[in-house]
Amino acid sequence: MSTEEKYLNCINCPMGCKIHVTLNADTIITISGNTCPRGEVYARQEIINPQRMLTTTVRIQGGMLQLLPVVSQSTLPKRLIFDCVKVLQGVQIKAPVKMGDVIVHNILNSGVDIIASRDVKEKST
Ligand code: SF4
Repeated sequence: MSTEEKYLNCINCPMGCKIHVTLNADTIITISGNTCPRGEVYARQEIINPQRMLTTTVRIQGGMLQLLPVVSQSTLPKRLIFDCVKVLQGVQIKAPVKMGDVIVHNILNSGVDIIASRDVKEKST
């Protein structure tokens, strides 16, 4: 029975506690180094199902910009990020766009929408 160790920096507040996790296979044995319970919750999620925000751009037609910055409305499973980026590389929308507009609904059935993170007006002719 071999025990694995992982070190994580909690990102939930500026204290940035260094959290020490011991694992056996995929089972968490101990979590230490967190100053508050949020650190333990963070460490468990980071080990079992890490999540990330996604920020990128999609192509936009007829706008003042050629690329529209977009963001996931909430975190996505880290394992889906690469495939989400591939989906978004194939997206092209038309201006105008308002910040918060849904660009891709429920991307890869994750339950998370991709939304515009700024306004883009139509290019004047
Ligand atoms: S464990 Fe608590 S105190 Fe430490 S960084 Fe995370 S949220 Fe902040």
